[in-house]
Amino acid sequence: MRSYAGFVLDRSESLRFLGGILEGRSIKRDKVAGCRFPRSFLTTKTKVMTTSSLYHTQGIRGFKYEKTERVGLTEIYYLHSTTHSLSCPCCGSKSTTLVKTGKTRDIRGLCIGFKQTIMRVSTRRILCRDCGSSIQEPIDFTPAAYVGYTKWVVKFVLGLRSSMSIRDAARLTGLNWESVKNIEKKYLSKKYKTVRLGDVEYLGIDEVYLGKKLGYITVVRDLDTGAVLYIGKGKGGDSLKPFNNRIRRKAKRVKAVAIDMANSYSAWVAELLPDADIVYDHFHVIKLMNERMDGLRKSTMNKLADEQKKELKGKRFLILRNQENLSAEAAQELKKLRFEFKDLGTASIMKEYLRNIYRMADSEELARTAFMLWCEKAETSAIACLKQMAKTIRKRIEGLVSFWKHHRITSASQEGFNNKIGWLTRQAYGYKDQQYLHLKIYDLPNLKTRKYL
Ligand SMILES: [Zn+2]
Repeated sequence: MRSYAGFVLDRSESLRFLGGILEGRSIKRDKVAGCRFPRSFLTTKTKVMTTSSLYHTQGIRGFKYEKTERVGLTEIYYLHSTTHSLSCPCCGSKSTTLVKTGKTRDIRGLCIGFKQTIMRVSTRRILCRDCGSSIQEPIDFTPAAYVGYTKWVVKFVLGLRSSMSIRDAARLTGLNWESVKNIEKKYLSKKYKTVRLGDVEYLGIDEVYLGKKLGYITVVRDLDTGAVLYIGKGKGGDSLKPFNNRIRRKAKRVKAVAIDMANSYSAWVAELLPDADIVYDHFHVIKLMNERMDGLRKSTMNKLADEQKKELKGKRFLILRNQENLSAEAAQELKKLRFEFKDLGTASIMKEYLRNIYRMADSEELARTAFMLWCEKAETSAIACLKQMAKTIRKRIEGLVSFWKHHRITSASQEGFNNKIGWLTRQAYGYKDQQYLHLKIYDLPNLKTRKYL
């Protein structure tokens, strides 16, 4: 047994009661009649609110409170404006008359305790004697004309969104999903209308795959601050065209640009930032190595008999994951796998070797020597993917050692950021609205990634 507001409820009653609130539906009178609520709790018209409390709980000023009506667990407050005269919104003339329309507008307010609230405002029209226009009187506690919620609801929703999903915020406030999304979208588009490049010195450019429907986007970041500077649709230099003029103004300042090994942005960098160094950072080198290794795993699997295929199937992550992140059991399994599939084993060890260069080398020269040794070793093996990798490393060696020249500009931040984007797109609601998704990516550096947001 639980008591709520003095009424004793048994377990099923209180669950029904709370469930109704959480799902944002107003419980019908007869349904609640089953609970031991007195009828007056849900239906009477009483004066429980005051004009002053409306100001303190809902931020509403300039309106007088008349009465309350209760429908289920929703309280409806009847209000009317106390403004006596308004100038004409069209011509600014003061010779206007305010005329009651006899109609009302419902505007959702903040919840009070378990109850949802609606402001039922009687509307008026402003008739202008000078220009003859007739316009509905604006309600100043809503964020814009014809919006069905108050300014304080907007503030509340924005606060909620840092710690809960759109769906949960909608449930709690009684708004629909779309409204919650639009509130946030509007706020974000104002916040990121102009992104300042500031004193950017190190740029990171990366393509991110968002799935079949959304395709690729290109994200430009300031590697010092982590801020997202630009998001372009598609990949390659063309996707950055709208960004060109802005970055040109900062061209003298930019010291280095970190890009991927596929070199899709090198022509863009050479054209717009001729003084900046191209850097192939740690994250992109290992990414390429992993891709090559996965190719080897697939081709090995194709050559095998069905019986052996089973052994290699589903082992993708075991092979690609960083060694130190494996459990003792998984490490043992990897050891076995390396022994059984010799080529794959060699490649896997060579990848760890490559990662060690980044861990151990503390100068440009040392790194260069280590890369060359790696290439020699890879070339003596008969494994095509390693030979290929060695070729790439030899070709791009300047960019690779630039990583040390620029004090290892990117640590794990690029990888972490890409993971965060992946996390964002995996959220239940998909992000059908591309513009909203882009705004959320701009906002990612400020966001703590929790499970559902
Ligand atoms: Zn007028």
